Amino acid sequence: MNDPFTNAKEQLRSIADILNLDKSTLDYLSQPKKFIEISIPVKMDDGSIRVFTGYRSQYNDDRGPFKGGIRYHQDVTESEVRALSMWMTWKCAIADIPYGGGKGGIVVDPGTLSKNELERLSRGYIRAIYKDIGVDIDIPAPDVSTNGQVMAWMEDEYAVITGKQELGVVTGKPLDLGGSKGRESATGQGGVFVLEELVKRENLEQAKTSIAVQGFGNVGYFFAKLAEDSGFKVVAVSDSKGCIYNEKGLDIKKVMEHKSKTGAVKNFKGGKNIEREEILGLDVDVLVPSALENAIHKDNVNKIKAKYIIEMANGPVTPEAEKELIKNNVLIVPDVLANSGGVTVSYFEWVQNRQGYYWEESEVTAKLEQKIVNAFNLAYEEMIHLGVSFREAVYVLAVKKVLDRFKQRI
Ligand code: NAD
Repeated sequence: MNDPFTNAKEQLRSIADILNLDKSTLDYLSQPKKFIEISIPVKMDDGSIRVFTGYRSQYNDDRGPFKGGIRYHQDVTESEVRALSMWMTWKCAIADIPYGGGKGGIVVDPGTLSKNELERLSRGYIRAIYKDIGVDIDIPAPDVSTNGQVMAWMEDEYAVITGKQELGVVTGKPLDLGGSKGRESATGQGGVFVLEELVKRENLEQAKTSIAVQGFGNVGYFFAKLAEDSGFKVVAVSDSKGCIYNEKGLDIKKVMEHKSKTGAVKNFKGGKNIEREEILGLDVDVLVPSALENAIHKDNVNKIKAKYIIEMANGPVTPEAEKELIKNNVLIVPDVLANSGGVTVSYFEWVQNRQGYYWEESEVTAKLEQKIVNAFNLAYEEMIHLGVSFREAVYVLAVKKVLDRFKQRI
């Protein structure tokens, strides 16, 4: 199986020549500044003790505090956390927000824990790393299977330990606890701003542009819903249990109502069931992987018919698959740009927490649009200018920004 950190380093190496990176600079950028492994003992509801493994990777803080989510998943590995923290570094740089990159994770299947057990686990994580985080040091946020409730427990645990109310120590908090309006939908919203720009640049007709979205969680749902609201035709969505398809377009709000009732998108009346993996081979204009890493790899890449891929998940296309796709003239908008809407609004949340002054949703959305549209167009121009892939163009811009700061200080 593809090793995420190996993939991430390969992506970095692909632009080393363009930026004339020497070996020492490449070495510097190819490892986290600090990697923390912890064990978290949790008293379970039945009185037994279980010990969970957790990680925090503090990859780079040249441009500001480390920043990145915390993932709860049974398949979390050290390599995955390192890769995600490296991607966060490039993401914050291309999004032009004053942060470095970090990421955390706990090896746990959260579906097997009660709410009280999850709370004890989340608080235990903060007890183990509280000395290493802080509003100006490292700012965690939600990722796969963590949410506003988990952030609320984490913020509270930090406040209890330090005796300080520093709301900006984590982002992605509930609105009542200093969260930002527009944060929940921000990643999907940012992706739709990217989609709208892509359509303009590539002279596509919006109403005829068909879209398939793999993954129907926070990112996939809001992407699909807001794309539909913007006039696109979302013909397929999938989740871990199956996939539904309607060539005339799905009613995304109704799909969500169905999923909330039944726990899955399959058997939705307004579409037909197809196999989960069939979504990758549909004859659509834009494929939007919004689930997990390595969704598109060397063994399934030949199925892809879409001419555009917007990577809303982190690392959904392996480097080997990307080479094949580029040969077939598929344009891939890379994760670090496409899904940067989430961290951008996390940054807005942190700014609001520190100012103690809160913005209306329209202001948040307008500021997000400005930042992500600007980043998209800079990268698109760079791609044409250098004659490289979209990912390479984004990496060139992002890595250069990180090094500009690094070199001022060394
Ligand atoms: P989530 O847990 O809310 O949703 C994940 C979805 O993927 C679920 O619907 C799940 O059923 C589905 N899924 C899992 N395996 C699948 C498969 N094989 N086929 C189809 N669907 C499958 O997670 P999320 O927050 O939406 O994150 C999704 C991706 O986006 C991750 O890669 C995450 O790192 C990335 N991301 C999230 C944010 C954010 O703000 N939440 C920001 C940037 C990037």
